[in-house]
Amino acid sequence: MLDFSLSDEQKAIQQVAHEFAEKEIRPLAAEYDETEHFPEEFVEKAFKAGLTYPYVPEEYGGQGMDFLTACIVGEELAWGCCGFATILNANNLGSTPILLAGTEEQKRKWFGELTSRPTLAAMALTEPGAGSDAGSVQSTAVREGDHYVLNGTKCFISNGGLADVTTVFASTDRSKGTRGLSCFIVPKGEGISPGKKERKMGVRASATYEVILDNCRVPAENLLGEEGQGFKIAMMTLDKARVSVGSASVGIARAAMEAAVDYAKQRVQFGRPVAEFQAVQFMLADMAIQIEAARLLYMKAAWLETQGLPFTKEAAICKTFCSDVAMRVTTDVVQVFGGYGYMREYPVEKYMRDAKINQIWDGTNQIQRMVIGRIITS
Ligand SMILES: Cc1cc2nc3c(=O)[nH]c(=O)nc-3n(C[C@H](O)[C@H](O)[C@H](O)COP(=O)(O)OP(=O)(O)OC[C@H]3O[C@@H](n4cnc5c(N)ncnc54)[C@H](O)[C@@H]3O)c2cc1C
Repeated sequence: MLDFSLSDEQKAIQQVAHEFAEKEIRPLAAEYDETEHFPEEFVEKAFKAGLTYPYVPEEYGGQGMDFLTACIVGEELAWGCCGFATILNANNLGSTPILLAGTEEQKRKWFGELTSRPTLAAMALTEPGAGSDAGSVQSTAVREGDHYVLNGTKCFISNGGLADVTTVFASTDRSKGTRGLSCFIVPKGEGISPGKKERKMGVRASATYEVILDNCRVPAENLLGEEGQGFKIAMMTLDKARVSVGSASVGIARAAMEAAVDYAKQRVQFGRPVAEFQAVQFMLADMAIQIEAARLLYMKAAWLETQGLPFTKEAAICKTFCSDVAMRVTTDVVQVFGGYGYMREYPVEKYMRDAKINQIWDGTNQIQRMVIGRIITS
């Protein structure tokens, strides 16, 4: 039987996340967008609210939500501000390789650390010369006795350098390309440090750094899976991340549409609220259509994951559609606001800037179309 309703538990968690976004995120969103400071106290509040590692199982100290419920939470947080939501999404991104490829011992050890206090995690895959082409990573990991020594520079890393734990992708055998890539758990400390902090168009409450690996020695037991499994771990992690990007995109689009509806009802021109003009009403209706469709797509992809079914294609479809929707909706919302929409005094230009990143990260939408195309033609 097909059922589109949320369970009572999911509705309760959604409500908690919504209230958290309303009280702890929205009032700070404009300030942190403007200053680009990192909101450290937010991590503490998110920890207390049980939002730092939502889908890590309870036995490892996480919140034990299924992935669909975690995505519903993600929609609410991004409704509050996608920059703040990104801090927690980067926690998910950084810790998911441990969840997917860690041994029982690794999971107990590292989630024990991550979930016991307010912490940050990061995933460091991208490099200056390796973005879409993740297989051309130049960072190296050389085995020396019972340690690996990591060297290289990662760029555009969310929570990078600040993170208590970073999952780092480095090559243990450059001659093997993607099959030479391995994944390591790297705790904060000697050998790993933040480089340049990026100044961004949007999602400015989240910190995006270069991560420098300078003779970073990690015990061999910090290798996730086996040598050469890094690319597979990265792709499995990104499948989940793409669904999270979908839910965050829906959160931004919904927030923007709500602002447009309110504004159109109170802005009077030609003696009538502009919401009464069909041209404006149709723009709002198109937003509602697209958001509804986008939500169903992220929920379907997340549901497949919770059922243990393949979802790579659906994750790519969801990521592409939802982020394209967020971009179109937020652009139209600025249009509904007219000149005021272009002004920083109003919140909607920020939605448009925040929406853009979702078409780029975790694999650009061009790369997603390649993933979808390959699967449907194979
Ligand atoms: C704010 C921010 C946060 C990020 N956070 C993280 C993080 O936490 N961890 C991490 O590892 N990375 C992170 N990234 C990196 C992000 O995932 C990459 O930027 C993204 O994958 C694209 O890589 P690139 O920027 O090098 O673009 P490029 O790969 O150089 O792409 C440039 C253009 O070429 C297109 N293109 C490239 N190859 C093809 C192809 N084969 N066919 C068609 N078109 C193609 C792309 O779609 C794009 O339009 C972040 C990026 C940003 C901006």
